[in-house]
Amino acid sequence: MTFAKLGLTEHLLETLAQLGYQTPTAIQSQAIPTLLNGKDVLAAAQTGTGKTAAFTLPILHLLQGTERAPAKQVRALILAPTRELASQIGESVRQYSKGLGLRSQTVFGGVKAYAQINGLQRGTDILVATPGRLLDLMEQDAVAFDELRYLVLDEADRMLDLGFEEALNKLLARLPKGRQSAMFSATYSDPIKQLAKVWLNDPEAISIAQSNKVATTVRHQIYTVDKVRKPELLAELLRRQHWQQALIFTKTKRSADEVTDILQAEGFDAVAMHGDKPQYARLSALKSFKDGKLAYLVATDVAARGLDIEGLPVVINVDLPHVAEDYIHRIGRTGRAGLEGRAVSLVCADEVDSLRAIEALLKQRVPRKEIPGFEAEHRVPDSHPRSQKKAPKQSTPPNAKAKQKAAEPAKPELSQGPSLRSNPFAKAKK
Ligand code: AMP
Repeated sequence: MTFAKLGLTEHLLETLAQLGYQTPTAIQSQAIPTLLNGKDVLAAAQTGTGKTAAFTLPILHLLQGTERAPAKQVRALILAPTRELASQIGESVRQYSKGLGLRSQTVFGGVKAYAQINGLQRGTDILVATPGRLLDLMEQDAVAFDELRYLVLDEADRMLDLGFEEALNKLLARLPKGRQSAMFSATYSDPIKQLAKVWLNDPEAISIAQSNKVATTVRHQIYTVDKVRKPELLAELLRRQHWQQALIFTKTKRSADEVTDILQAEGFDAVAMHGDKPQYARLSALKSFKDGKLAYLVATDVAARGLDIEGLPVVINVDLPHVAEDYIHRIGRTGRAGLEGRAVSLVCADEVDSLRAIEALLKQRVPRKEIPGFEAEHRVPDSHPRSQKKAPKQSTPPNAKAKQKAAEPAKPELSQGPSLRSNPFAKAKK
């Protein structure tokens, strides 16, 4: 398959050639012709699959050579759940639309609205936005959608996780009906299907791979350790392994800060990235990391969602995510494009439930190691590979999980505070 066969304009083909894109990815091969045919699309595709180009290229193709957006109006709207993802998509739109004379803009919260309002005043052909800020701008009459032709909802599952449903409904009520829409989501859960019913019109469903598929080029490894000693063990591993770069995940903003402080005190070049950090700091940390100037980025799931970082040798989970599927999202940043990647997790005794769910999802028991001097006093119980079929799935309702917990043998009490166990999404609403 070639991009030319997908029917894209000459200009876009040249741009893609300049970017070094030789063949379309699976999602691009399927979504581009469908969108060019004017159909709505519901696609299950994760980050790293080339989904941004899959929805952006058809929009550019269809807008090319048509009349520019009048003042305050928007012709194509791409909604993304987080500032980082919006900014990354905005960057891709700029790349792909080079030389087309289309005006694109990205708006998200956490920065002053003044410049955004000014930019919108002139009319925007492609607007990339997070739902909260867009709603604010709409309420201030800074932007209008009478001319909207194309709509994309990216990472729809994460929009729901982050509690954007109400904002989305308010937005939807203000959008014209005669538009073409596409929805991208890493998972195909019931709430997503429900959302699709409301947002899409007779969509073509595209699924390029099982949503839980993990690159076979990723090697998983667990280090068992007591919770309180995780940051120390992390520093020890970084000293021993000499990874050039690592993306390090924690479950909460607080633990991201704690881990970063400890790494910095040990002389490591580490920066924390989470929702409480000022926007400019997040973008600058991300840029340094992407450019290879920063060695260690310590992030929460929400802040790192959708980030595309090429050729990352290792992803380290200081805490396991509380939703097993987030493990797949996290480690999706390593082992890409056939390169070998590593997923290293520091696991303590009270994370065994999460570990079971992850192993069930991976359909493998992840090898365990202990580093001498860091042996766990609170032994991490075996994750019972034979009972994996019964392990909770990511969508296990809270009461079912509680029942399951009650049925398990008592686990040792750990003395550490609650920060590592709390829900990272709880305060993530914009
Ligand atoms: P995405 O899933 O949209 O975040 O894209 C992941 C990465 O793949 C980005 O760095 C894109 O620039 C790159 N990419 C997307 N499509 C192609 C393609 N057809 N050939 C080569 N690289 C691509």
